[in-house]
Amino acid sequence: MGRLSEKRTILVTGGLGFIGSHFIELCLQDGHTVYNIDKQTYAANTDLEFEGEYHYIKDDIAKIEDIPYCDIIVNFAAESHVDNSISKSDNFIQSNTLGVYNLIEIIKNKQLNNLLLAWKYSPPLFVQISTDEVFGDILEGSFKENARHLPSNPYSATKSAAEQLVVAWARTYNLPFIITRTTNNYGPRQFPEKLIPRTITNILNGKKVPVHGNGEYIRNWIHVIDNVNGLYRIVDEGEESRTYHLASDEEYSVREIVEMICELLDVQYDDVVDSSSDRSGADLRYALNYDSILSLGWEQKYSLKESLKEIIEYYRNKK
Ligand code: NAD
Repeated sequence: MGRLSEKRTILVTGGLGFIGSHFIELCLQDGHTVYNIDKQTYAANTDLEFEGEYHYIKDDIAKIEDIPYCDIIVNFAAESHVDNSISKSDNFIQSNTLGVYNLIEIIKNKQLNNLLLAWKYSPPLFVQISTDEVFGDILEGSFKENARHLPSNPYSATKSAAEQLVVAWARTYNLPFIITRTTNNYGPRQFPEKLIPRTITNILNGKKVPVHGNGEYIRNWIHVIDNVNGLYRIVDEGEESRTYHLASDEEYSVREIVEMICELLDVQYDDVVDSSSDRSGADLRYALNYDSILSLGWEQKYSLKESLKEIIEYYRNKK
């Protein structure tokens, strides 16, 4: 019997964002109670209406002083765009690292206070959402869960640091945790600074599409619904103190993605792309070994090629 076989109270952070919002919908559909702490950065979807036992708390995970009672915390809240972290990184350190520190300190202090009062307190399972970027690049093969971190940009460094905090606090203060790492997500509700929605919206708006280098950087692509289905399975059945990878069998270079979108929108790559910019620290290829999620019975349902038409329609309707 999994953790989610009973109705639970789940605290989601960053639940107005791209991935967190889809995860909340899944939890509410299954009858769980959801609290969502989101400070509403520019990336938040403020027009969402969730149905079910949903409670919204507008706050910053790095500053909040207490959290509601819950069985499970799933921490999505983060500054998530690498390019922004290269121009200015203080809010990445604040949200991605100090935010996690603040949350696990709150849990630790609740545990200590309850112990002093001889009250029984079961700390919530802390699920930290992390990224394939903590490892840096790999030209062939893929990273297993216990590979060494070698982040190459401020964003991935802040996410790596957050993982280390979770592991250390869990060991020192006996807190239950799971870490998940995922690859590039795609699907509706993604803020149009990321490659796929940016390419679509720029072409629809008659603007150039900036492509770093020659677009040769390779990424692994997972549909957001496949990702949240996998996350739900991990929260339900995943072993404590373990890390799980969530990825797909689809690897494409940036150029291949832009070409696919160009074909669907009937424009020529060379006419719409501006390749004058490059990104310092850009990793050539990311890849995760994801046997751990397959071992929980998860299956990939979506393919990028088949999903792109629908995603284009989503952004066309949002215009
Ligand atoms: P997003 O940028 O779409 O959304 C982030 C949400 O977090 C926003 O609603 C924002 O308002 C909120 N937020 C940011 N800082 C906060 C703070 N200090 N306190 C409270 N709320 C805050 O992000 P996303 O793409 O949905 O990513 C979610 C998580 O998944 C992140 O932790 C990210 O590092 C990780 N991740 C994302 C991808 C991807 O492809 N999108 C890949 C790997 C890992």
